[in-house]
Amino acid sequence: MRRWIFGDQLGPHYLDEPGQPALLVESRAVLGRRRFHRQKAHLVLSAIRHRAAELGDQAIFRQTATYGEALEEPVTVTQPTSFSADGFVRRHPMVAEVLPDRGYATSREEFATWADGRGKRRLLLEDFYRENRRRHEVLMDGVDPAGGTWNLDAENRQPPPRGVSTLDLPGPWWPEEDEIDAAVRADLDRWEAAGEMEFVGDDGPRWAPATRTEALSALHHFVRHRLPTFGPYEDAMLAGDPWMAHSALSPAMNLGLLHPIEIVRAAEEAYRAGHAPLASTEGFVRQVLGWREYVWALYWRLGPDYRKRNALQARRKIPDWFRDLDADKTVEARCLSTVLGGLRERGWVHHIPRLMVLGNYGLQRGLSPAELVEWFHLSFVDGYDWVMLANVIGMSQWADGGIMATKPYSAGGAYIDRMSDFCGDCRYDPKKRLGPDACPFTAGYWGFLDRNAEHFAGNHRMAQPLAGLRRLSDVDAVVAQEKERGTNAP
Ligand code: SF4
Repeated sequence: MRRWIFGDQLGPHYLDEPGQPALLVESRAVLGRRRFHRQKAHLVLSAIRHRAAELGDQAIFRQTATYGEALEEPVTVTQPTSFSADGFVRRHPMVAEVLPDRGYATSREEFATWADGRGKRRLLLEDFYRENRRRHEVLMDGVDPAGGTWNLDAENRQPPPRGVSTLDLPGPWWPEEDEIDAAVRADLDRWEAAGEMEFVGDDGPRWAPATRTEALSALHHFVRHRLPTFGPYEDAMLAGDPWMAHSALSPAMNLGLLHPIEIVRAAEEAYRAGHAPLASTEGFVRQVLGWREYVWALYWRLGPDYRKRNALQARRKIPDWFRDLDADKTVEARCLSTVLGGLRERGWVHHIPRLMVLGNYGLQRGLSPAELVEWFHLSFVDGYDWVMLANVIGMSQWADGGIMATKPYSAGGAYIDRMSDFCGDCRYDPKKRLGPDACPFTAGYWGFLDRNAEHFAGNHRMAQPLAGLRRLSDVDAVVAQEKERGTNAP
């Protein structure tokens, strides 16, 4: 039977055998409903059209307004990656069978078995990650972790080297656009001009892989040239080096062009061959086989209502300058303007600007977590509902009240100053919490704590920050100042 392949199921593993008939659908309604980053719309359409071209006569490729219009014969489909698409295929009379997912290392059943087996213990990422390493025999020496230790965070996650503006590495692998990209660009321009769609962010040369061949090139380039430096600087930020040593493979992974197991095996091979240190390799495997799989599994486990959680009653609307990635004219805080500007330029910034600049801003200013989930989903080339839900609701916004994290990811300017080169040229001072040059993150941190002091009163990990708040002599003035600043562009 023909296999309907969704736009994030584009790798060969989504077909049962090489010649299987396939159906690919490009739905304009999906792009017209919401304001995606221009480069994300481009990447997704380019990847679908490239796959259709590769499959040739083997595939029917329909460009329709909606998915429903495209289904004219019975099909099978691999479980889609969102609650809404999952519900759609299960209700549709032309879908004969929904097959279990095949693009991740953890099935729903495997995660349920692990989670149920823990009784009342928290679903700790660290435990899940170790279980996945054992189950898939990744970086293992028999029953022991390679090198005798599971977690090399102490060696990783260092500040950037001093006095440099880049890590001076070969950049990530970069594709060459072709005639399919040209056609995508022309279509997007036309649809936008006709008012059928609206985008955020800059158009730009496509930098993320759109085909399996491109994705493999990007993987091998990363493992060879960048993996060795990944670990130490995975959390560091430099204004002049947005990629640092990150793989930038998440868009290809999330399009289904690469399987996570082949990625971690490639990284492990480099380590075994002596081309990459263990700490970097472990840090990278932790991101792919640990964190990414964890948020994927939690998406299904926590259910669609998880997005409604709002433990801190954060209800502010996302301000226009933030939503529009309008950083240059309006934002003076250098960390925020650099990160928002980078997002506008590329549709991507790495995990620490996401969590500790953008997410931290949302948490401190009380932005609506549900709005932020949607914003991250639309604004990032690798954003999908399943990726962003747990990352935003659980991790960055504390909206689930502590199911995922043990303390909120709020930090003042001192953290950003330590982990980046942003603060030196900023008009604010990361050490100041009061006055015209008070850092909006430092002052915002105290404002956030003051606003939520009651909520965190019983959390022993927050005892020290709350004691610090009580010792501040000028807390009332700082809180008043930050109320006044609100969500005006800092
Ligand atoms: Fe950001 Fe504050 Fe540093 Fe400026 S001083 S870059 S606002 S953390």
